[in-house]
Amino acid sequence: MGAEEYLPEDPGDLEALRRASMGCRGCGLYRDATQTVFGRGTVGARLLLVGEQPGDREDRQGQPFVGPAGTLLDRALDEAGIDRGKLFLTNAVKHFKWVPSGGRRLHKTPSARERAACRPWLLAELRVVAPALVVGLGATACQSLLGSGFRLSHHRQELVDGPGGLPVVATIHPSAVLRMTGADRSRAFDGLVEDLRFASTAVS
Ligand code: SF4
Repeated sequence: MGAEEYLPEDPGDLEALRRASMGCRGCGLYRDATQTVFGRGTVGARLLLVGEQPGDREDRQGQPFVGPAGTLLDRALDEAGIDRGKLFLTNAVKHFKWVPSGGRRLHKTPSARERAACRPWLLAELRVVAPALVVGLGATACQSLLGSGFRLSHHRQELVDGPGGLPVVATIHPSAVLRMTGADRSRAFDGLVEDLRFASTAVS
């Protein structure tokens, strides 16, 4: 189990990586998903943002962060003064994991095994894009970047050493903000904006 054997011969070419990821069978998640959702953005982007996995809309469209969580992220990026066009956006796990519920497809958190299986794609994206800083959005992304023992609530607004010595800033996932209501949601959103601003300032 693992994506390693599906990496292309030239893992230094982003387009070759993206094409190869479409045929990945490194874990069982490809079976119930529509397609692989690879990262989006430009090589050399200063900031690379990592989420958990594609959602329902992302799975159908084949693009990361195009659903409700992506809309909220856009708003947080705007408030933090970050141009989404200058980022690379991806997920720790490239296929949508879901369970059926009343005719809908409900998100299910990927297991540690699935996260580990998909990690070679994330590491390859990090090598090729070569950002100055990585933002981990939520526990799955942060644990994929920083190990299973990482607790993001203990490391907000800190630079943490990530893969290959890349600095990582840990923050909550926009979906977690969406699940909250009232004042909790406002506070969580403001915290996300502050963390993004911290990350942006660290690379400016
Ligand atoms: S989730 Fe990752 S490892 Fe699993 S099949 Fe999809 S691309 Fe491959």
